[in-house]
Amino acid sequence: MLIDIHTHTSIGSRCSILHPKDLIITAKRRGIEAVCITDHDTTKAVKLCKEIGREYGFLVLGGMEVRCEEGDILTFGLWEKPPGKIRVQELIELVHDVGGVVIPAHPFRTEAPSLGDRIWEVRGFDAIEVLNGNASDYQNELARKAALKLDLPGTGGSDAHSILAVGEYLTFFEDQIQNEEELIAAIKERKFHAENNLGTGDPIMNWPR
Ligand SMILES: [Zn+2]
Ligand SMILES: [Zn+2]
Repeated sequence: MLIDIHTHTSIGSRCSILHPKDLIITAKRRGIEAVCITDHDTTKAVKLCKEIGREYGFLVLGGMEVRCEEGDILTFGLWEKPPGKIRVQELIELVHDVGGVVIPAHPFRTEAPSLGDRIWEVRGFDAIEVLNGNASDYQNELARKAALKLDLPGTGGSDAHSILAVGEYLTFFEDQIQNEEELIAAIKERKFHAENNLGTGDPIMNWPR
C-alpha cells in the first residue's frame, strides 16, 4: 500500500498552509492509501486528522518530525517531544526504548536543518528518507547513496506543506497497514521501498530481504 509518510498540517506546523481536510481529500483523490502526519515537534494535529480521516474512510497515522540539534528527524512511536534540545543519538535511544523507529528527514538538504555528513557518525537509524519532496534530485541522490552505503532501507515522503506536494513521493509497503504499530513493524522488517509520484513509476529502491 502507498503511504505518504511525511506531511505537515496547518494545525501542527506553523510553516504549513495545508489544512487536514485538504490533505486527506487530496491524498485520497491522488490514489494514496494513507498519510502520516509528521508535524514539527508535535503530534497535536493527529487526533483531529484521524477524525477527519474516519469521515472520509481514509487512514491517517501519527508521527513527528523532531528538530534535533543536528537536524530534522522523522520518528514514529514517539508522541511527545522531550523538552529542550536533543541530540540525534539521544533521540534514537529514546524512541527505540518506546519501541519506535527513527529516520533522518531530507538528510542532505541544505535549506533546512539536516544531518548532512553527520549521518556517518550516528548509529541506529531504522531507515533513511531517500525521496523528500522538498529536497533537490541531487540531495535525494546523496541520501539514496548514503542508504546503500549504510545498508538501510529508504523511505519516500512529500514533506507537503500545501496541497500541491501531497503524494509527490511515497513509501510503498508490502503489507496492508492499519495503525502505527503495524507501520513501525513494517519499517523494522524493511518491508517497504521509496516510490516516486503516485507509485506509477519504477520503485527506486528494492531491498533484498
Ligand atoms: Zn524537515
Ligand atoms: Zn517535514
